[in-house]
Amino acid sequence: MQQFTMLIDGQKVSSEKTFKVINPALGKPFAECALGSPADVDLAVKAARKAFPQWSQSSEESRIEKMLAIAALLEQNMPEMMQLITQENGKPLNGFNGIGSGMEVGGSIAWTQATTSFSLPSKIIQDNDEAKIEVHRKPLGVVASITPWNWPLLIAIWHIMPALRTGNTVIVKPSPYTPLATIRFVELANTILPPGVLNVITGNADVGNAISSHPDINKIVFTGSTATGKQIMSLASTNLKRLTLELGGNDAGIVLPDVDVEKIANELFLSCFHNNGQTCACLKRLYVHESIYADVCAALVKIAKEVVVGNGLDEGVEIGPLQNKAQLDKVIELTNDALANGGTLLVGGQVREGDGYFFPPTIIADISDGTRLVDEEQFGPVLPVIKYSNVDDVIAIANKNECGLGGSIWSSDIALATTLASKLETGSVWINEHGAVQPDAPFGGVKQSGIGVEFGLLGLEEYTSVQTIKTSRR
Ligand code: NAD
Repeated sequence: MQQFTMLIDGQKVSSEKTFKVINPALGKPFAECALGSPADVDLAVKAARKAFPQWSQSSEESRIEKMLAIAALLEQNMPEMMQLITQENGKPLNGFNGIGSGMEVGGSIAWTQATTSFSLPSKIIQDNDEAKIEVHRKPLGVVASITPWNWPLLIAIWHIMPALRTGNTVIVKPSPYTPLATIRFVELANTILPPGVLNVITGNADVGNAISSHPDINKIVFTGSTATGKQIMSLASTNLKRLTLELGGNDAGIVLPDVDVEKIANELFLSCFHNNGQTCACLKRLYVHESIYADVCAALVKIAKEVVVGNGLDEGVEIGPLQNKAQLDKVIELTNDALANGGTLLVGGQVREGDGYFFPPTIIADISDGTRLVDEEQFGPVLPVIKYSNVDDVIAIANKNECGLGGSIWSSDIALATTLASKLETGSVWINEHGAVQPDAPFGGVKQSGIGVEFGLLGLEEYTSVQTIKTSRR
């Protein structure tokens, strides 16, 4: 069995306790990893703190050069990284419409490169006889990144790269379900970065709590569930840590009566089921106008029946297993609850016999708000399709949910769709697609889906503090 350790101050760090990493396609362990403790948090913070003065004062050019070298190294090691991600997460190497571990590694390279192109130059906001006022952006210090299991490498990259770009040092703690690609990435990056600039520790909630309450960590960037985000926020108050919280979503998609059902069907299916529904900004509640309800359901069911579900390492597989047993159990529970409360099963609905955490793409009709499957984030391959008749009512219903990550409007009338988009209480709205992100467009949630944004200049700003210097000339 392959062995993995933490990496602190440029050195591999093992531990007395270890844990097994399970391949969800087989339901069996395939690697063993050192299990970190609060003492390892201390060690990593000391290393990151020690590395901070030199890294933060290094020139922008040298940081950019190192980041580009890391992107190139990632590219050279792409096949190994893809294998690791598919084995620990379950997503196929290629996947439905190309959304798989190849895209995850490719996206990680692209994001790393793109992040080098953003900068936050100092601004002069006054320069006259009275005074000169300059506004500078400074790194915060030690940034801790805590990541989930659904896009383990890509989300780590989203956290790490803007932090490094702006001169911070970093400790990353991956999910214990999927630590391996992150550890391997940090090992590779440490062949380029000075020791202590980027460290990886592993661990459970005790390690998470030690990070959140640590007095010498300046910022936490967290992607994960809303419940964990709230716990982090409360402990982070001890030293007023800066926070970026990317939390759960329950994105509504609203299909207007004027769509060409055949034309949008594939994109709609992709929006709901890519990565097996385990993406924060997947479309999770689909509202369809009554005049085309039957047609939309039929088009989605047709695709669901054709999709190839299986072990992501096998050629031609489009959708893999659920990432872990708890998530599979949740999907089963929400499916059963929906069916017990009057939902009609159109396709799927049964766990696959045999090894692994497989559940086929499942679509449930004749369901409405007030059912758990609609109100809660399922984070898996079971989609509720809800019939509506009045568009103003459906916007109000979509907004009633406590989440506010994303939403989408599907229509051939772009002016109307844009007006409706502005009425959704979410951080992102897509028109005629759902969930697509890119390195230069800010992304983040409102309401209980989070605080702050990632990506682009606005995302970069979150890794800095503002210093205003005023020189009096009187
Ligand atoms: P999770 O909250 O259970 O775990 C996320 C991370 O937090 C893991 O590394 C975990 O070990 C760590 N953690 C656990 N307890 C902690 C504690 N007390 N203090 C600090 N860290 C702790 O989430 P998950 O199940 O891994 O991920 C699924 C959730 O993530 C879904 O709700 C999904 O919507 C959300 N998500 C959001 C986004 C976004 O950008 N908004 C992206 C991906 C996933």
